[in-house]
Amino acid sequence: MEIIKKSKHMVSTSELLKSKGEKIGLVPTMGYLHKGHMSLISRARAECSKVIVSIFVNPMQFGPEEDFARYPRNFKKDCSLCQKAGADYIFFPSTDEMYEKDFKTFAEVQDLGDIMCGRERPGHFRGVCTVVLKLFNIIRPNIAYFGQKDYQQVVIIKKMIKDLNVPVEIAECPTVREKDGLAISSRNKYLSYDERKNAVVLFQSLKLAEELIIKGQENLENIRKAAIEKLESTPFVSKIDYFDFRDNDTLCEIERIDQKAERILIASAIWIGETRLIDNILIENNF
Ligand code: AMP
Repeated sequence: MEIIKKSKHMVSTSELLKSKGEKIGLVPTMGYLHKGHMSLISRARAECSKVIVSIFVNPMQFGPEEDFARYPRNFKKDCSLCQKAGADYIFFPSTDEMYEKDFKTFAEVQDLGDIMCGRERPGHFRGVCTVVLKLFNIIRPNIAYFGQKDYQQVVIIKKMIKDLNVPVEIAECPTVREKDGLAISSRNKYLSYDERKNAVVLFQSLKLAEELIIKGQENLENIRKAAIEKLESTPFVSKIDYFDFRDNDTLCEIERIDQKAERILIASAIWIGETRLIDNILIENNF
C-alpha cells in the first residue's frame, strides 16, 4: 500500500493505472476509520482492481462554530486499517495541497443543499461538493463509494455529477450500526458513557416512525409528534434539528403516505449534549 500526499503524484498514478486498464474504486473519508468506512472499502475491494482511500478532514465543510479543530484524527491507525482492508493507495493531502492561497472556485447544488442538514449547516454541502469534485478530478475513479448514513450527501453528489457530466459511478452502501442500532460515526467518540447509552434513541425514534407507518397510520404529522416526544423525553437529547419524511429521490417533503415516492426516507438530526448526530432509514412506500 502506498501513501500519496501530493495531488500531482496522485494524478499521474491514477493516469498510469487507467492506461493499464485498471478499474479504480475511490472511498472518500475524513479518516478516524471505523466499521462503516471498512464496509465501503471492502465493497470497493470486491468490485474494483485498485482501491484508493482518501483521508482529508475538509475545513470547507465545517462552519466557523463547528468541530473542525477537534475532529478526531489517527492517521497511523487509519493506515493499518486500510492495509488490512486491502486498499492499494491512501491519498492523504494537506489542507494547503487541496486549497491553495488563491482558491476561488466552488461547486454547489442549489436547493438540495439548503434543506435538512444544509439548513442547520449553511455552506456545508458546498464544501462537500467542492472537495468531492476535486477528488474526482484528481483520482478519476470508475466508482466512488458513499454511505447511506449521509443520505442527503449521496443525493446531492449524484445530482452534481449528473448536472456536470462527471464520468463516475456512485455506489451507495448500507449504514453499519452498533449492536444496539446506533449508526457508527467518528463523532460517537465525543459521547460520554451516559450520552452514548441514550444516543440509541435516534435510531429508535426512526424505527418508531417506521412501525407506525407500517401499522397503517397515515398522518405523518402525528407520527412526527410521537417520534419527537420520544426524543424529547430522553436524557441528554439537547436539541432536535429536524425529523423529516422525504421522497428518497428528490428529497421533497412527503405530507401524506399515499404520495408516489417509491421509498420514503425518514431522516433526523439531533444533538446529544454537545454532539450532533444524524441517521435515517428508508422504507418501501407500498402500503
Ligand atoms: P466520513 O469520514 O464521516 O466523512 O465518512 C466517509 C464515508 O463513510 C461517507 O460516505 C459516509 O457516508 C460513510 N460512512 C460513515 N459512517 C458510516 C456507517 N456507519 N455506515 C456506512 N457508511 C458510513
